[in-house]
Amino acid sequence: MTLDKSWTKITNKVDPVFINGAIAFAERGKTYVDSEGRIHCPCKKCVNVRRHVPTVVADHIIYNGFEPSYNVWIHHGEHLPGYETDQTDTVTTPDPPWTESGVASSQAVPVIILKNVAAEISSGP
Ligand SMILES: [Zn+2]
Repeated sequence: MTLDKSWTKITNKVDPVFINGAIAFAERGKTYVDSEGRIHCPCKKCVNVRRHVPTVVADHIIYNGFEPSYNVWIHHGEHLPGYETDQTDTVTTPDPPWTESGVASSQAVPVIILKNVAAEISSGP
């Protein structure tokens, strides 16, 4: 799923593409409302700090403009870069890389520490 964010860069607030984008954003945001039915407002005045119901958010975006630095919609269902999982079959957790080497090193480290401590004790004053 690719999100169309090009409308967020439109500075002409009466551009129907911008208005439709704001309304579509609020519609989509309805999926991510909190227990009070509100979502983070990405308008230039709220900058995701304040929350409003989706219809108010649409108004805010149209009247205040969309916050230009909000490029990854982490408050609205989008994941941070590197965590994109568009395919539904990638839910399986990958094998942790520490299963084999981690066990060996976790046993080796205390032995080294003990040897150093023993050496310090024996060579002490
Ligand atoms: Zn707002």
